[in-house]
Amino acid sequence: MKESKRTHTNKKSSNKTARPAHMRRSSAVSGSSRSTARRKRVLRRNLGIGITCGILLCLLVFMGKTVLQRANERDERELQELVQEENGPLLWQKQGAPYIDVQLLTPNEYSRPQIPMESVQYIAIHYTANPGAGAMANRNYFENLSTTRETKVSSHFVVGLEGEVVQCIPTAEISYATNERNVDTISIENCHPDETGAFNDATYDSTVKLAAWLCTRFGLTQDQVIRHYDVTGKSCPKYYVEHPEAWEQMKEDIRIQIQEDYALQEKLQNSSG
Ligand SMILES: [Zn+2]
Repeated sequence: MKESKRTHTNKKSSNKTARPAHMRRSSAVSGSSRSTARRKRVLRRNLGIGITCGILLCLLVFMGKTVLQRANERDERELQELVQEENGPLLWQKQGAPYIDVQLLTPNEYSRPQIPMESVQYIAIHYTANPGAGAMANRNYFENLSTTRETKVSSHFVVGLEGEVVQCIPTAEISYATNERNVDTISIENCHPDETGAFNDATYDSTVKLAAWLCTRFGLTQDQVIRHYDVTGKSCPKYYVEHPEAWEQMKEDIRIQIQEDYALQEKLQNSSG
């Protein structure tokens, strides 16, 4: 019984290990198909690495191009700013103007309505009536009128306590400063240290230079430099309304500066021509 069971088991196991002929033949084929499969696997892996490398390379090239493009755009912008600066404030300085910091207001109906100037016939001198405030503070006050909407007022230029000049509005557009003369008058607001409204030396010098240079630019004389007072009778610029002799002196200083500017500009033209 025992023996018989073992025989039976042996038989069963021999049955299990014995391969039919067709199976044995196919085992040779299976060896070669295994190596083909391995080759395919290697091929697939290599392909995968290749594709990954390709993608990485593309990404790298793309990123490099983007970085280069950004750098080019920045260079271009800086170059444009430099050209603008050289054709604007730096050129104007060579023509006799003080350095003009161009900080144009955002167009808005309360301070920069973008109404074209008819023609330039006058330069009007004003005072801010706000002792101690600087040029940028006044410029920002005009800028903020677009949100506060408290009044309509502005100026083409503001001259600060250190003689700094900020331009708020292009000279081809009107400002809200000189009432009925807004249509043909460029306005200059002046900062002042105290209630007298007198300009300090730095402010005075810049204003004389700015007014004179504007006269040469628009073909005006010192007699076309006026006070706000001459248009409306308002006490502006206060000190130069209360002291007519100081006003006469300022006009005389502007006259002399106009001559100097024309001489400068002629020399500039000869040297460049
Ligand atoms: Zn005024």
